[in-house]
Amino acid sequence: MTDIIQLLPDHVANQIAAGEVVQRPASVVKELVENAIDAGSENIQVVIKDAGKTLIQVVDDGKGMSLTDARMCFERHATSKIKSAEDLFSLQTKGFRGEALASIAAIAHVELKTKPEDEEVGTHIKVEGSKVVNQDVCVCPKGTSVSVKNLFYNIPARRNFLKSDAVETRHIIDEFQRVALAHPQIAFSLFHNGSELFQLPETNHRQRITNIFGGKTNEKLVPVTEETEIVEISGFVGKPEFAKKSRGEQFFFVNNRFIKSPYLNHAVVVAFEGLLKDKSYPSYFLFLKVDPKSIDINIHPTKTEIKFDDEHALYAILRSAIKHSLGQFNVAPVLDFDRDSNLDTPYEYKNKSAEVPQVEVDRNFNPFQEENARTHKTRSNSFSSNFIKERGESWESLYTGLQTEDEPKPDTDFREIEFESEEVTGNLFQPSEDSQEKSTFQLHKKYIVSTLKSGILVIDQHRAHTRILYEEMLKNITVSAAVSQQLLFPLNLQFNTHEIEIIKQLQDSLEQTGFVFSEVKSDSVQIVGIPTLISESEVEILLEQLIADFENDVPDNGFSQTDLLAKSLAKGMAVKSGTLLNNTEQQHIVNRLFACKEPGLSPSNRSVFVTLTVDELDKKFM
Ligand code: ADP
Ligand code: MG
Repeated sequence: MTDIIQLLPDHVANQIAAGEVVQRPASVVKELVENAIDAGSENIQVVIKDAGKTLIQVVDDGKGMSLTDARMCFERHATSKIKSAEDLFSLQTKGFRGEALASIAAIAHVELKTKPEDEEVGTHIKVEGSKVVNQDVCVCPKGTSVSVKNLFYNIPARRNFLKSDAVETRHIIDEFQRVALAHPQIAFSLFHNGSELFQLPETNHRQRITNIFGGKTNEKLVPVTEETEIVEISGFVGKPEFAKKSRGEQFFFVNNRFIKSPYLNHAVVVAFEGLLKDKSYPSYFLFLKVDPKSIDINIHPTKTEIKFDDEHALYAILRSAIKHSLGQFNVAPVLDFDRDSNLDTPYEYKNKSAEVPQVEVDRNFNPFQEENARTHKTRSNSFSSNFIKERGESWESLYTGLQTEDEPKPDTDFREIEFESEEVTGNLFQPSEDSQEKSTFQLHKKYIVSTLKSGILVIDQHRAHTRILYEEMLKNITVSAAVSQQLLFPLNLQFNTHEIEIIKQLQDSLEQTGFVFSEVKSDSVQIVGIPTLISESEVEILLEQLIADFENDVPDNGFSQTDLLAKSLAKGMAVKSGTLLNNTEQQHIVNRLFACKEPGLSPSNRSVFVTLTVDELDKKFM
């Protein structure tokens, strides 16, 4: 038999190996920035074009490379960071495999400019698909600049596999934030398509967190510190009342390396027990220092898991340290001497001219209205009944979807429309003269029960309302812009850069639903108009939920994005189970539900109602 095994040519082997290290533009950002950190840089600048698909450039002012090293660094397993296997146990650097630059050079066009401090001139090298295509001397400042262009140019399958620019940018921001958080003593900046996303001056941990996540973060942080034989813990947890709907701001660093650990995360969550609202996640920024010997550092370059020798002890120490900090914070506000007054958000209004107040007219006001409608205004003050009050008072807004374009909106008599929508469903419901008020009742503050000609109908109130709002929202986004209510005072909401990216991505669609943004900055938005269906107090929660939904379920195209937006807002705005509904409200939901295109299913494909026919009842009584 002839021999069939051959060694792969270098460039093929390199391409295959590269796939392990470089999965997407964000992996390149991570590797290059880590090299810059290992080179002892004080300033690191990251420049991105088209989410890194066209260009990723990292410029540092670190120790640079000699001419020979500049050639060597593109070789596989070429590293200056370890010399022997023992060095792995005292590792102080991020890199040590000597694989990153070789991998990147195998699948992109790379340009390197580098100069050590004591040299007159630097080295300029161009590498394409692992081959050096150009080399000369150059005049450049001390440090290194690596440009990576046309990533995956020779692996079309990989390139096509990349997600939308918005998604890839978010991955880059994530990686950038992780290294920037771990190294506050280094100044970082990030530019995307010419606009500045981050400008982070050299500082301490607390300020770095605040600079990344927005001005108000500082006051939400509770310091955590603990020093034991096996671990040194420092960092912050977010105050429980600021816990978020998304897991976004949860960071563990071990020896300045970002890691993910469901196990340690559990320790934090347990420490927060009893302090968090349902389905909210505490934020945390925790820096653990352990002996490099006690962890298995030889982890996969792109993976963020880590193995500890003494995981159980670490768990217990972490939990009690956080409990202790939270406890202290609960008895007395923690005095914070580190606090930098520059961090305090300036009084935003002082430079702004006054806005002309709008006179609000309650079009619903009707001096001849029955008492019934007014009584529920005096109901208890809980969130949910406020919510319903809101619904009751802006009944008209629920009909916006029914209006036709040429109908003059302000003059519409809404009760007439209610009558119309009732007709649509007229055949479904028992025609009875004795007013419709009696044809529904609420069960367990959760279900609306209504009679049918042939039996009874039990409707899940939350799912029904979600379906109604969902269809209305879709219509508003795709067909006609919704009516929006102008706010008397603009609403300023703080978000982190990551969240702002999502809002920007959704801004057009949100505006179609009635949101009016007067300003979208890098860490906050100003809202001057909101959909008529929601109240001002709900805006922040709704947007937070929306962002969380988009983080968990990244839509790939405009169509699914619109759908997810409508789903998320509808879910947040719909009446919840446990909310008492008066008869008008019940009727209203029933009527609107059956005017929907698909009344039987909630937007998340669950049944909205069940029926029980007289026949079925008869059988039960046999
Ligand atoms: P590793 O970081 O694992 O050593 P890399 O392929 O990322 O492997 O880099 C190879 C070598 O190139 C590094 O060990 C380092 O000596 C050198 N190098 C890479 N980037 C820089 C930089 N920005 N400044 C100085 N030296 C660098
Ligand atoms: Mg490296």
